[in-house]
Amino acid sequence: MKKDQLLTRRRALIAGAAVLGAAGGAGTARVLTAEPAAKPVRSARAVSGPPARRALKPSAYRLQPMAGFGPPHSTHPRTAVRHEPILSVSGRGRRMVLTFDDGPDPRYTPAILRTLRKYDVRAMFFVCGEMAVDNKDLLSEMADDGHIVGNHTWTHPLLTKLSRSAIHSEIERTCEVIDDAYGEPPVWFRAPYGAWNRATFQIGAELGMEPLAWTVDTLDWETPGTSTIIDRVESGAAPGVIVLSHDAGGDRSQSVRALRRYLPRLLDSGYHVTVPRRRFV
Ligand SMILES: [Zn+2]
Repeated sequence: MKKDQLLTRRRALIAGAAVLGAAGGAGTARVLTAEPAAKPVRSARAVSGPPARRALKPSAYRLQPMAGFGPPHSTHPRTAVRHEPILSVSGRGRRMVLTFDDGPDPRYTPAILRTLRKYDVRAMFFVCGEMAVDNKDLLSEMADDGHIVGNHTWTHPLLTKLSRSAIHSEIERTCEVIDDAYGEPPVWFRAPYGAWNRATFQIGAELGMEPLAWTVDTLDWETPGTSTIIDRVESGAAPGVIVLSHDAGGDRSQSVRALRRYLPRLLDSGYHVTVPRRRFV
């Protein structure tokens, strides 16, 4: 599939989502804040070193036309450097976000996509570049279905142990493969192991991404049993919660089976399982 066709299909999906959002009365609400987690089970505050200063980049700002030339051409707005990742979503209603990390893996991701499609639900996939490059068709499928693909580095390293240039390379290469296969560059970034530091926040922001962590960790990578994963999602369910699961990195058949059970139950309980939207200004 050609990239421009992919983009057209995605834009159509996004336009549809915007209409739904407005009809629900939440179209103008601020969707995301860095507010504390509603029910923190295992949050991702692993920031080491002094807090980052906001990078205002005054010189870059002055290069933009002040008036008379229209808005500067850019695929996304300047992203401020945060001091900690976003742990939950805000907005009206009982919203929850499902995220799946480390893939895509052709053994498990297609089944997750099928379940999400069955219930007409959008989710987020934080992919690793080394997995994405061999499974570009799955990223296209995510784009077609309106899912959000985020950046989870190329090889899933502990970024806090890497040099700044190595961190940059891990993240930037992954942006490129996502842009190629998904049809647009990612606007969300998640550090492996939730290990953030100043460099990861700065580089993520430089590349136009917001740092997204999670509220509820299913610990599904420990393969605790399908019913335990279901229990963790259902007991952690609350408005604004972001759930962390995995679609790769090991045997994820429990994660696949759990989703089939807890997703319809969340929907029956009145949760709006959705994806966050960045506030484009
Ligand atoms: Zn991961």
